[in-house]
Amino acid sequence: MRTPRHTFDANCDKLVFVRTLITDSTDEAAEIIRRGGLVAFPTETVYGLGADVLNEDALRRIFEAKQRPPDNPLIIHISDISQINELAESITDDARKLIEAFFPGPLTVVVKKSERVSNLATAGLDTVGIRMPSFGVAHEFLQKCRTPVAAPSANVSGRPSPTTWQAVREDLEGRIDCILRGDPTEIGLESTVVDCSADEPVVLRRGSITIEMLRAVVPGVREIAAAEELHRSPGTRHKHYAPQAVVIIVETQPEPRSDAAFIGISTKKDGWGHALSCRDIEEYAREVFEFFRECDRRSIATIYCQSVGSAGIGEALMDRLRRAAER
Ligand code: AMP
Ligand code: MG
Repeated sequence: MRTPRHTFDANCDKLVFVRTLITDSTDEAAEIIRRGGLVAFPTETVYGLGADVLNEDALRRIFEAKQRPPDNPLIIHISDISQINELAESITDDARKLIEAFFPGPLTVVVKKSERVSNLATAGLDTVGIRMPSFGVAHEFLQKCRTPVAAPSANVSGRPSPTTWQAVREDLEGRIDCILRGDPTEIGLESTVVDCSADEPVVLRRGSITIEMLRAVVPGVREIAAAEELHRSPGTRHKHYAPQAVVIIVETQPEPRSDAAFIGISTKKDGWGHALSCRDIEEYAREVFEFFRECDRRSIATIYCQSVGSAGIGEALMDRLRRAAER
């Protein structure tokens, strides 16, 4: 384990020193949550940064550690369906159907929140996003926490989400109490978020559970309109998923350049400063955030990303690429 560095809190007025424990033990990690600490843990989507949802000091520390804007709500992670009753005031029929069809899995369902859930976790909204991860280590860890766990992605806000424990350490060592070490994540993009708190379910964020899959269960699910994004999905106004490099989306592979990088499907790697040729769209989605991070480590100034079709996880991947390309 490396020596933790000193860091300053969000206001830069006091020195915060935290020794970050790196462990394989879900018992040890869960114990830290129960004592009010912050633990990064692997899920099937990306690594999350967890805290006991009932501990407001711990919730505040999530925002500090990530330098997350306070108007961006946290997703609450559960290990048992019965925990939804603690978190939700009411559940619509549509929410119930989606929960039955897709929990546990990479879907977050937004419902009316109960009074027990702090406004800090929901950024003042009267709704709460709930997810039950399917990944075994996450499930075991959450079960041992014996409390719902609020967890955004375990990166510094704005940076690409972490898909490896080493990426979490790169961003948050010295700022959080523990990293529960696991394998690289299977999906690599964050969960689909669907707001079921009103009459019409709306997809707030795309993910590997596609709108077609949701409509097969609840036909009325619709996409979010640009005009609604700001008030229904407050987090989306902030810059996301961005490496330091300039990201440019292209349809075909340009001439290779040694000072630039390229990621795409079944493409040539010769002549690029760094390049990744993925077998398929799933591998592209799984690898893209780590590819961005590796480009930053190599101080690459420009990353070309090949665009993909909208089938399967393609729509979610294009959403992340477009946001990364925004300047
Ligand atoms: P992250 O945990 O970093 O993947 O970010 C959580 C995402 O879930 C953000 O895009 C939030 O805006 C969204 N989210 C969480 N809770 C809610 C909620 N109650 N209403 C709308 N969006 C939410
Ligand atoms: Mg995030």
